[in-house]
Amino acid sequence: MFNKKEYKKIKTEIPESVKILAATKTKPAEDITEAINLGVKIIGENYVQEAEEKYEKLKDLFKEKRVSFHLIGHLQTNKIKEAVRIFDCIETVDSERLAEKINKICNDLDKNIDIMIEINFEESQKSGITIEEIDSLIKKIKTFQNLNLIGFMAIPGIGKEKECFEKMKELKEKYNIKELSMGMSSDYKTAIGNGATIIRLGTILFGGR
Ligand SMILES: *Cc1c(COP(=O)(O)O)cnc(C)c1O
Repeated sequence: MFNKKEYKKIKTEIPESVKILAATKTKPAEDITEAINLGVKIIGENYVQEAEEKYEKLKDLFKEKRVSFHLIGHLQTNKIKEAVRIFDCIETVDSERLAEKINKICNDLDKNIDIMIEINFEESQKSGITIEEIDSLIKKIKTFQNLNLIGFMAIPGIGKEKECFEKMKELKEKYNIKELSMGMSSDYKTAIGNGATIIRLGTILFGGR
């Protein structure tokens, strides 16, 4: 169930410039429909197959309400074709190889796609690139004509939210990038305090999973 009251409350508390992405993994299309009808403009899914199933039910509504569909989970190379077909933005680009393959498939389909680079602050995390790797990945992405790099995304380490968000803010300024996708149900306020432009909310809007 979509928590209408909580959504409205959050909307009044955050700056108008901050966009809410509803993270809808495991939640049914009905919940997503409710969220969209109340004004949510970005829907984020983690798994391509689950996203495809919901997309088939929701694509007309997405179009009508101008909803942007984001991939916020790790993308496996064997799922790129499906991902490019349904998503407007892939937030989790974390290697040259992945960027190159997305570009190639977009090129074949004569389509452009928005992407973000996922930054990794935790050695234990499997996805995302380190800060040291950003320069070379950006350089490479600039050579890929079908990719529009619009921002950075991060999932901070537990207990290290503040320092991760501060670092992200520095990176946004350094690279003059438009979007910072960071902050979840438990830490979105800290994220906004450090320049988040997109907060990704799941539990607080839809209840536990
Ligand atoms: C699930 C998920 C969220 C939302 O997390 P909540 O704590 O439920 O708000 C945000 N970002 C990513 C990448 C997620 O997988």
